[in-house]
Amino acid sequence: MSSLKIQITKNENKKEKVPADQLLFGRTFTDHMFIADYTDGVGWHDYRIVPYQPITLDPSATIFHYGQTVFEGMKAYLAEDGVVRLFRPEENMKRLNISCDRLSMPKIDEDHAIEALKQLIEVDKEWIPAEPGTSLYIRPFMIATEAHLGVSAALTYSFIIIMSPVGSYYKEGIHPVKILVENEYVRAVAGGTGTAKTAGNYASGLKAQEVADREGYSQVLWLDGIERKYIEEVGSMNVFFKIDGEVVTPSLNGSILDGITRKSIIQLLKHWNVPVTERKVSMEEIREAYLNGKLDEAFGTGTAAVISPIGELRWKGELFYVNNGETGELSSKLYETLTGIQKGNLLDPFGWVVEIKE
Ligand SMILES: *Cc1c(COP(=O)(O)O)cnc(C)c1O
Repeated sequence: MSSLKIQITKNENKKEKVPADQLLFGRTFTDHMFIADYTDGVGWHDYRIVPYQPITLDPSATIFHYGQTVFEGMKAYLAEDGVVRLFRPEENMKRLNISCDRLSMPKIDEDHAIEALKQLIEVDKEWIPAEPGTSLYIRPFMIATEAHLGVSAALTYSFIIIMSPVGSYYKEGIHPVKILVENEYVRAVAGGTGTAKTAGNYASGLKAQEVADREGYSQVLWLDGIERKYIEEVGSMNVFFKIDGEVVTPSLNGSILDGITRKSIIQLLKHWNVPVTERKVSMEEIREAYLNGKLDEAFGTGTAAVISPIGELRWKGELFYVNNGETGELSSKLYETLTGIQKGNLLDPFGWVVEIKE
């Protein structure tokens, strides 16, 4: 694995660091980035760490016209013991390849990608904030770079990793959000690209998000694309409900993103012997549970927020309040446990955490 040769060009014009309490999500980037190029028939080549900088592409590059691009989102944490930790990085690289396959893009070597990431983090280690709740957000992505306007898979690609220090998601403590159930637009259908982390899924979701913003809701809840009946996800998070003591989450049906936080939560709940089921969940079931006083908790899960409790749902003009708009006991416990394991403050019984050793 360490056969990997990465050429490192250090940045001589280092940027000033932004204090952790002033960091806005995804606006500040570290001093370096990783790039590798792919050429059909040659494979991946020119692995390099270079100063963070704009990239130059031909205006006819496939990415601009036909959207051949995929990405990942992951985090590195710096704990009080000075150790940097990644959370299940092999899962992210595995999923990146699943996305690549769906978009007819070349696969990366997962071990090489993790090795490249570790070296990049080592170079930019001083950028990882240490304050509680902070982390280094990592965005690996791939783009089709070939200069050619034909609709076909490109012959050249770049795989890039950029990193952004992020402040605490919950500055005033973990708090529930209001969610608008989307009845007009859909995110994905089985057979489409819903299971891939690819740009088009997010571009097509912006319209619904705009409406939600205007009405004072922070995210939309997506329903299935055929009957608008079954729950899929919340914004760019998977979603869980606690109904009458049982935790349920929509099963991976071919249009839902296979979240790493989602799968970790399921594992954690099983470990705690909390009943958890992956199955179809209809909006009507949520409505009935609410009316019968059985909708105990609801929360979204994803790398950025880890757990995002839901305090209110609006569906076809009806309002369902969850747990009096307060963060539920299970949501809190899951948040504390998962973030504790990620940061290295709690024991990791699952082997999820990868320490970066110098
Ligand atoms: C990234 C993402 C998630 C959450 O995945 P994690 O691996 O938990 O971060 C869920 N839904 C969508 C649509 C996503 O893009």
